[in-house]
Amino acid sequence: MTRVLVLNTGSSSVKYRLFDGTTTLAKGLVERIGESGGGTADHRAALQQIMSETDLDGLAAVGHRVVHGGSDFTEPTVVDDDVVARIEALIPLAPLHNPAAVSGLEVARTLLPDIPQVAVFDTAFHSTIPAEGVTWAIDAELAAKWQIRRYGFHGTSHGYVARRTAEILGRPLEDTNVITLHLGNGASAAAVRGGRSVATSMGLSPLDGLVMGTRSGSIDPTVIFHLHRVAGLSLDEIESSLTRHGGLLGLCGDNDMRAVEDRVEAGDPAAVLAFDVYLRRLRETVGAYLAVLGRVDAITFTAGVGEHSPTVRARSLAGLEPLGIAIDPTRNEAGAEIVSPADSRTAVLVVPTDEELEIANQTRTALGLAD
Ligand code: ADP
Repeated sequence: MTRVLVLNTGSSSVKYRLFDGTTTLAKGLVERIGESGGGTADHRAALQQIMSETDLDGLAAVGHRVVHGGSDFTEPTVVDDDVVARIEALIPLAPLHNPAAVSGLEVARTLLPDIPQVAVFDTAFHSTIPAEGVTWAIDAELAAKWQIRRYGFHGTSHGYVARRTAEILGRPLEDTNVITLHLGNGASAAAVRGGRSVATSMGLSPLDGLVMGTRSGSIDPTVIFHLHRVAGLSLDEIESSLTRHGGLLGLCGDNDMRAVEDRVEAGDPAAVLAFDVYLRRLRETVGAYLAVLGRVDAITFTAGVGEHSPTVRARSLAGLEPLGIAIDPTRNEAGAEIVSPADSRTAVLVVPTDEELEIANQTRTALGLAD
């Protein structure tokens, strides 16, 4: 077995998990990095803390989650100085996400100089989407100059659950078409044909697409001009509003889906509207991907909401029986692996995602290490 440490470095936290093969030996979270009053000083101190808490004997590699790989990185990449510089060069595309990843890479390379490091990108899985699926109809020269296109995120998760879906259905991955719905606090959908992404809902950043916990998802860009010119908000204020005070939170004051569902049960009008808006966008996206794929063998729900909310699963797909899509209420309530009736043309699945395990596996593959 090969030991791999997976690091997910965010601006104020580092999540880690140590694998031996597929077995988790240790995991944890260092939080409140850089905060005054008791927090960990910086990413270096956070990794030092992880190294002191964790037995890294026999460590063969470190796998890093990196949010944005731009057009450059289409697969897991062994990290060297040049790779760090190229990820750093992508910071303008992902100012909210990539600086922490760069810091995590640099610190890990300094503190573990003899251990190979691999960067695994959230965007990479979506590099197979054809040009018409990632190009927006804006001035082509401007778009090319500023690298403006759809990149898509949550790729590690979409790829993993699409593959698991084919395994569970006992079908060859190459001949399986899946709509994957990653519904966590952040949320995105993907259309996956034969294991390759052909459409996804997040865009240049993770703000686009589905309604999320605190992110608005897709809106008419004119909203931004209007908030700036008419309402007088600065661009930073608008960005913060759409990313941190939008979505379910913006609509009803709660971003935790459990709280929203409890309030819907109680008939709270703001929560009812928030939930309806969330479900409507999800249905519209599923409908779009049915049209992109033509034949859909499975629709797979994953992440916090997708794995744990029978209501979201049932309501988002209700009434699609004429399209061969149905939910079996008993299986759905029980959270079974397959929640559609046995005779459905399209299977509906609940597959727990495991991005860290997938990062560990991809790290080994990139380095040619055994499991
Ligand atoms: P992240 O995107 O932060 O990785 P997760 O995938 O863990 O998040 O998903 C977090 C979301 O899952 C939260 O909004 C939470 O409310 C939701 N969730 C967790 N359990 C349930 C449940 N039983 N019913 C509805 N939503 C749930």
